[in-house]
Amino acid sequence: MRLTVYYNTKNYDYLIVGTGPFGAIFAHEAAQRGKRSLIIDRRSHVGGNLYTHKAHGITVHDYGAHIFHTDNKQVWDYLNQFTAFNQYINQVMANYKGDLYNLPFNMNTFYQMWGVKTPAEAQDRINKQRQAATIKGSPKNLEEQAIYLIGTEIYDKLIKGYTEKQWGRKATDLPSFIIRRLPIRFTFDNNYFNHRYQGVPVDGYTAIFNKLLDHELIDIQLNTDFFTDKTTYLSEFPRLVYTGMIDQYFDYKFGELAYRSVRFESEVLPTDNAQGNAIINYTDIETPYTRSIEWRHFDQKGDSDMSILTHEYPQEWDCSKEAYYPINDQKNSALFKKYRKEANKLDKVIIGGRLGNYQYYDMDQVIHAALVAVDKEFNR
Ligand code: UDP
Repeated sequence: MRLTVYYNTKNYDYLIVGTGPFGAIFAHEAAQRGKRSLIIDRRSHVGGNLYTHKAHGITVHDYGAHIFHTDNKQVWDYLNQFTAFNQYINQVMANYKGDLYNLPFNMNTFYQMWGVKTPAEAQDRINKQRQAATIKGSPKNLEEQAIYLIGTEIYDKLIKGYTEKQWGRKATDLPSFIIRRLPIRFTFDNNYFNHRYQGVPVDGYTAIFNKLLDHELIDIQLNTDFFTDKTTYLSEFPRLVYTGMIDQYFDYKFGELAYRSVRFESEVLPTDNAQGNAIINYTDIETPYTRSIEWRHFDQKGDSDMSILTHEYPQEWDCSKEAYYPINDQKNSALFKKYRKEANKLDKVIIGGRLGNYQYYDMDQVIHAALVAVDKEFNR
């Protein structure tokens, strides 16, 4: 027989499931308002997929490169309470079968691809390729959207292979919004983002979470899986903030949502500069990884002649792996809507974050969503 566990001997106001940005900001803001939280995480560290650690004086992002960028001044100012940012501007190179191109798609890319030197010449090339492709009506999937925006040649060399290995699906089966994440511009500007504020936290992301959660009204319990004791948690805590997978919360009662996962392989190299750039994308279909990341180029602070290089391999998700990307195609979006409807009926549970909302969120969007949730919660 199972012994009854009294988790809430400290009169907590909240149980928060997940120490990623949504959960950690909620806990912090609740504490600022005099509310006590227990925050739990299945993993052995805080920060969710933003967790970073230092090796050889180099900050490594354990769950893939995270460059902070936003246009939202409120979010930027909020985060700057907990960290300073360096001056890093993301400028990605693409390697297609040994040839190098600048990303995102801009005049440098067009010059490297076609030798064109003016915006008019580049636009003319793209228009001709788009017309030859005869897309009917408005673009219905990622492939059509990409060709519509940038023509067939860049699609074939820089998008199709990368996209299909990243998502494990045909570009014709993926939603068009995914490719609209990348800027297309007719200037010689290699900035991967259009946002006004950008950088990488000088001490890594983990330091932000340590500050957010360092409060006498917050207790942290790691290596703790909510689902081993869901019923007891629900009966003992007055309110719950849940940031895990929404389908799991509801015991997959409508079926499983699909996710895409990623695997990383890192090596330490006896050099201070292995590839000359922080991120190189491998855009052909044959190379099994999508990106190669050389961490020291994010902050140039490695204190030795060592470099750490990480290759990122996309893979299908199963429950033994971390869920990174929601797959917002029609089938999964319809399924998510059913779960969201159920979530809206819960009166003591707030479901949020990338996995809770099944959204391809950037960091600033999660932070914004957390601040909105806090506002709603404390102005009820
Ligand atoms: N993409 C591409 N080629 C690239 C980089 C990105 O085709 O070299 C496409 C691909 O479909 C990818 C999407 O653009 O999933 C969004 O790229 P982003 O860099 O924003 O992906 P994330 O960093 O979120 O993995």
